[in-house]
Amino acid sequence: MRRAQQADAIVVGSGPNGLAAAIRLARAGRAVVVLEAQPRLGGAVVSQELTRPGFVSDTFSAVYPAAAASPVFARMPLQDHGLDWVHPEIAMAHPMPDGRAGALYRDLRRTAEHLDELHPGDGSAWASWAGHHLERFEALRATVLGGFPPVVGGARLVTAYGLQGTLEFARLLLTSADQLASDLFTGEHARAWLFGSVLHGDVGAEESGSAIAGAYLQLLGHAAGWPSPRGGAGRLTQALAGYLRSLGGVVELDARVERIATAGGRVAGVVVADGTRWRAPIVVADTSPHALLRLVGDAMPADYTRRLSRFSYGPRTVKVDWALDGPTPWTAPEARLAGTVHVGGESEVVTAQTTAVRRGEIPERPFLLFGQQSIADPSRAPAGKHTAWAYTRVPGAVAGQEAVTAHAERMTDQIERFAPGFRDLVIDRFVQGPDTLEAANANLVGGDVGGGTYRLDQTVFRPLPSLVPYATPITGLWLGSASTFPGGAVHGVPGWSAASYALARSRLPL
Ligand SMILES: Cc1cc2nc3c(=O)[nH]c(=O)nc-3n(C[C@H](O)[C@H](O)[C@H](O)COP(=O)(O)OP(=O)(O)OC[C@H]3O[C@@H](n4cnc5c(N)ncnc54)[C@H](O)[C@@H]3O)c2cc1C
Repeated sequence: MRRAQQADAIVVGSGPNGLAAAIRLARAGRAVVVLEAQPRLGGAVVSQELTRPGFVSDTFSAVYPAAAASPVFARMPLQDHGLDWVHPEIAMAHPMPDGRAGALYRDLRRTAEHLDELHPGDGSAWASWAGHHLERFEALRATVLGGFPPVVGGARLVTAYGLQGTLEFARLLLTSADQLASDLFTGEHARAWLFGSVLHGDVGAEESGSAIAGAYLQLLGHAAGWPSPRGGAGRLTQALAGYLRSLGGVVELDARVERIATAGGRVAGVVVADGTRWRAPIVVADTSPHALLRLVGDAMPADYTRRLSRFSYGPRTVKVDWALDGPTPWTAPEARLAGTVHVGGESEVVTAQTTAVRRGEIPERPFLLFGQQSIADPSRAPAGKHTAWAYTRVPGAVAGQEAVTAHAERMTDQIERFAPGFRDLVIDRFVQGPDTLEAANANLVGGDVGGGTYRLDQTVFRPLPSLVPYATPITGLWLGSASTFPGGAVHGVPGWSAASYALARSRLPL
């Protein structure tokens, strides 16, 4: 039997939210330990040589507009711990079958000129719409990237937009991208360019809530860029962990938490798979909601268990990383300069992706989020060589190695349509299906990359309707993963918010 260890606070899981929670607690003087199930830190923010030596691939996430805009990361000296953001010349490009591409530049005017070249009037419509929101971006950021309830952000919104403008903004939250595109654009290129960003989430472009999902990513492109860390995504994790350690925080790897212990309605600590017991009055779980319920078991009040069990996850994912003999030969020149390429073409094809996956059909022409970080960061590959990264959502029918490999071929075919000659450049590739993803990180439930679906109700009330959604009925136990408000992407807000509430409730100095 192993000796019990004591801490002021325990964080279960070392994803960006776990690390943000631990940093918040350590900055308040708490002795904090992070227990991570995997042999590596960082959750879905990791880089590895997945294909060949010298080719640095981002095993999961790769492009970080929300991190660059995050008010949580802005409070941390991450540059001092090695973080260096690389901004590609073009944040995102959306190639079309005619060989041209919609492009998102950081500069709004340049984007507008480009969209106007593709279809006169679309660029000026975007400049006027986006300009209006960018002038009020701080209020928008405080609302979307603040914790829940968004009281401070909401108050700033009213100040920045006025009452009528705030109501218009509330309408935007309920609008579809299809509607917003019809309001702004007459050309197909700009419509597809907007729809591609919607598909970073799992809600279709014709559904409520999709307008802000897509448009917000474009606005982030102008306000903060779509950068990646020099040297790989893992550098962000290393910077967070380095800062945490400088504050006295401790991280234990290969430490899967198997049980969260309670006594008299309060959290008492956790039990690790190897039998180690940790005691602490605060536990923040960077886990999925269902994992939290399993870890607590019967000690969780039945009503909360029933309500949290309703939380639902998004579709499965197939991800491929390539080692390439040269840069991806996109026909559209803008796509050659972009860090991220949305591969799918016309807006109907993009829309068909979500519909097919919902119906359980395998999309023959899948929509891909494609990253080519080595274009702006040569440190990712040997001289003259390149990396590529792509993922797409799939229905349940894509199960088992054979089906996953077949889908990786469809993904390659899709790239080939917009970049003829891509296949010939492939030196090697590494394919992950839904089961592989979940085995590498238990939070990727069924291969869902988002920590839960982004249906409108579950985006606002995440993980469930509550004024403090990070709280659980067990005193001292908090949920602070991407399954809580404001959800997925790498920004640390859920973890930071959960830890802030934990400190406030422990009635000790913040
Ligand atoms: C393929 C893919 C691509 C993505 N692309 C992007 C992108 O480009 N940009 C972006 O912003 N976001 C992207 N995301 C989403 C983003 O990575 C996540 O939203 C983010 O990592 C969530 O952070 P988290 O801390 O909540 O959880 P995670 O990063 O998932 O970390 C959770 C950690 O908890 C650990 N854990 C779970 N249970 C236990 C336990 N019982 N005991 C101990 N440890 C445990 C896990 O091992 C894991 O390390 C992507 C995700 C995936 C999977």
